[in-house]
Amino acid sequence: MSTMVIIGGGQAAGQAIASLRQEGFEGRILMIGEEPVLPYGRPPLSKQYLAGAIPPEKLSVRPEKFYEDRNVELRLGETVTGIDPTQQTVSIGSEAIGYDKLLIATGSTPRRLNIEGSDLAGIHYLRTQGDVDAIRKDMNDAKNLCIVGGGYIGLEVASVAVTAGLNVDVLEMENRILQRVTTPFMSDFYHTLHTGRGVNIHTSTGCAGFRGSAGRVTHVLCGDKEIEADMVIVGIGIIPNTQLADEAGLDVDNGIIVDEQCRTSDPNIYAAGDCTNHPNPILGRRLRLESVPNAMDQARTAAANMLGIEKSYAAVPWFWSDQYDLKLQMLGFSGDADASVLRGDPEARQFAQFYLSAGKVVAVDAVNSPKEFMVAKQLFGLGVDAEALSDTTVDLKSLVPERVA
Ligand SMILES: Cc1cc2nc3c(=O)[nH]c(=O)nc-3n(C[C@H](O)[C@H](O)[C@H](O)COP(=O)(O)OP(=O)(O)OC[C@H]3O[C@@H](n4cnc5c(N)ncnc54)[C@H](O)[C@@H]3O)c2cc1C
Repeated sequence: MSTMVIIGGGQAAGQAIASLRQEGFEGRILMIGEEPVLPYGRPPLSKQYLAGAIPPEKLSVRPEKFYEDRNVELRLGETVTGIDPTQQTVSIGSEAIGYDKLLIATGSTPRRLNIEGSDLAGIHYLRTQGDVDAIRKDMNDAKNLCIVGGGYIGLEVASVAVTAGLNVDVLEMENRILQRVTTPFMSDFYHTLHTGRGVNIHTSTGCAGFRGSAGRVTHVLCGDKEIEADMVIVGIGIIPNTQLADEAGLDVDNGIIVDEQCRTSDPNIYAAGDCTNHPNPILGRRLRLESVPNAMDQARTAAANMLGIEKSYAAVPWFWSDQYDLKLQMLGFSGDADASVLRGDPEARQFAQFYLSAGKVVAVDAVNSPKEFMVAKQLFGLGVDAEALSDTTVDLKSLVPERVA
């Protein structure tokens, strides 16, 4: 009987287990995950779970019974400390476990600040359910929350915290929020949205350190000003968890290098999710993505190929973010565009901003416009009439050529 070992206990690991069984694998599946909980989805952590709107058990992607019924061994709360590709073993301390095929789905770790006062109590990072449990406890007593980093996670937290009645400051080093991930138009839209709700946004403002009293943060230091804060959440990006792969001698460069089949430089080792650097044949370049659709699709691809079923991963990247009552859905990379077309009304908070390159759709940001987003997926890569695209009296679907629709 062959053995499939999965390192990690997140979105990709959970999907890989399901896919291995769906593809008909009847042998041994062992998942080793550092967190003491069943595989779960992280998106609600900065949204409904932080707001206290859903209980912890709703985070799990599948109930415990799912794994029992499928005879899956879960070793939760345990850390893989090494991989030996020659012996085909993984180790947990001094214990060695053999594998026929291995999947690395170790995700990523928040980038940490290492500056004056950064070890004071009240300074948080947000990656795990445990992190959010600690944040929620602190939020009950906090008055002034300072968020370091104006990316999607920081802004989702801002929307929950200001709605809960906290004074919220957001520090962003760049000259606009969301600078790394979207266009000035979308940054302006979200800036106006948040300031309208009472969030104080400080752009071009780095965090130089923290001041505290009795071991707990009281102020955030930024240049010539100090911001009062009895609680801080740092959201300044992530680092892919590649250490195990690196030490095992696998190719690593800004993520574990995999091919379209999610295979690493070792033919018996696969990788999926945030920890990978993978080729995207549609965009014609390598990517490292931090998104649920990517983790799930790569896990499905890896599982099939681990069983010898040839499958390639080729998808247009997409992502979403919920802030207040607005759902933003994003497809592709707006940085690839040379023009943009607005459809709908930003004032009414319902619109889709299409991005074109040489007249072809290469990206979209859709706010409270799920139907437009669905059609945008079909329009991706196709030439469109910009005037018709912006005209809300024209049915968007009519712009999709019949052979694609
Ligand atoms: C707060 C938050 C909100 C998000 N919101 C969205 C969103 O709205 N939409 C979206 O598309 N994406 C969102 N994301 C991103 C998305 O959650 C990630 O892209 C996704 O979780 C990646 O899945 P993964 O399985 O690769 O990694 P993870 O889900 O991070 O799982 C990796 C697991 O591996 C474990 N691990 C690491 N090293 C070891 C080891 N040596 N031994 C054993 N276990 C180990 C880790 O503890 C972790 O449990 C969000 C992320 C966060 C943190």
